[in-house]
Amino acid sequence: MATVEIVGGGIAGLTLACALRRPEWDVIVREQGRPAGTRDVDTAFGLWRPAMRALDGIGLGDLVQETGVRIDGATVRSADDRVLTRIRDQDVVMIGRTTLHRILHDALPGSVRWRSGRIEEAREVVADAIVGADGARSVVRRDHWGAGSAARAHGTTVVRGVVDHDLSRGELTEYWGDGVLYGVTPLPGGRTNWFTAFPERRFGGVDEAIAHVRGVARAFPPQVSAVLEEATPEQTLVNGVHVSRSLASFVRGRAVLLGDAAHAMTPNLGRGACEAIRDAVALGALLNAHEPAQALSRYRRRRLIAPQLFRTAASLVSRVALAAGERARRRDRVISMVPGPR
Ligand SMILES: Cc1cc2nc3c(=O)[nH]c(=O)nc-3n(C[C@H](O)[C@H](O)[C@H](O)COP(=O)(O)OP(=O)(O)OC[C@H]3O[C@@H](n4cnc5c(N)ncnc54)[C@H](O)[C@@H]3O)c2cc1C
Repeated sequence: MATVEIVGGGIAGLTLACALRRPEWDVIVREQGRPAGTRDVDTAFGLWRPAMRALDGIGLGDLVQETGVRIDGATVRSADDRVLTRIRDQDVVMIGRTTLHRILHDALPGSVRWRSGRIEEAREVVADAIVGADGARSVVRRDHWGAGSAARAHGTTVVRGVVDHDLSRGELTEYWGDGVLYGVTPLPGGRTNWFTAFPERRFGGVDEAIAHVRGVARAFPPQVSAVLEEATPEQTLVNGVHVSRSLASFVRGRAVLLGDAAHAMTPNLGRGACEAIRDAVALGALLNAHEPAQALSRYRRRRLIAPQLFRTAASLVSRVALAAGERARRRDRVISMVPGPR
């Protein structure tokens, strides 16, 4: 019997545990936080087609689709409400983070063992496959790839939250301003998910962060302030963004990295969770078909390039979206000259 220890019960770890179909194996998920589905504010993920196809592969695509809200693309606007660009025909499913955690948690095979508590030293985990699904500040990565491989702070602060009315007009809209972006998406249940990003800033508490983003919103059209006026501290999160350094392999010995532990990226393309799901479903399928050493060796080749390309592209988009001063004005002029649907 093989043992698989999954450090981290977030999107990546839960998806892998759902994908594994070897009841004879001992599969353990170790999670430091509260039970899945009860933590955090239910801010939205956009799940793009490749991630939905991966969820279809483990029998969860229909449920996620029925639970989420479908949108067909995104519109990027300037601070003075001109359409800069539209992305269409993408068929993205918006779903709350906590909701997705709950769906995955409820789908865990009965044979999976859930262990609450933080892993301090990944070297102490002994298994045939030691899975680092423990996010951007992964201890599995630190202990197996070395402290120098740790993700770095991107220098961006994100304030985001949920309000209980639908103020999104049913689509994903981003406004790119002068060194700040603001976005809004629909969420199931007639709710609205909102987010802002700007160069790193420390706040004394969530109230202060909300006051700051309400002030910043005055540079945007009135519909932005209308959403932020409804923001509450209980339904708002403030985060720094971490970005992984490149790795030549996500496999080292018996250790393997998935999701943000492998390739944390800025949120600008909305791909981090999508790539985490694709990693987990790919690794699950390989572990279902092969013994752990062989499965990890195949995973090493299969899931190396694409997520790191998304990480690089997301950082570029972040630089463009958060351009300030003359660079922001030039950005708006150049993007509006690019042909495309407006
Ligand atoms: C503002 C914002 C918007 C985003 N929007 C999108 C989007 O639209 N679409 C998209 O695809 N992605 C999006 N993302 C990215 C997405 O949130 C991440 O890529 C995704 O959550 C990564 O999942 P993960 O399971 O790899 O890591 P995490 O979600 O970080 O999960 C890691 C888990 O490991 C646990 N853990 C950590 N260390 C330990 C330890 N030592 N011992 C035990 N447990 C541990 C943590 O408690 C956590 O539960 C967004 C991110 C942000 C910040």
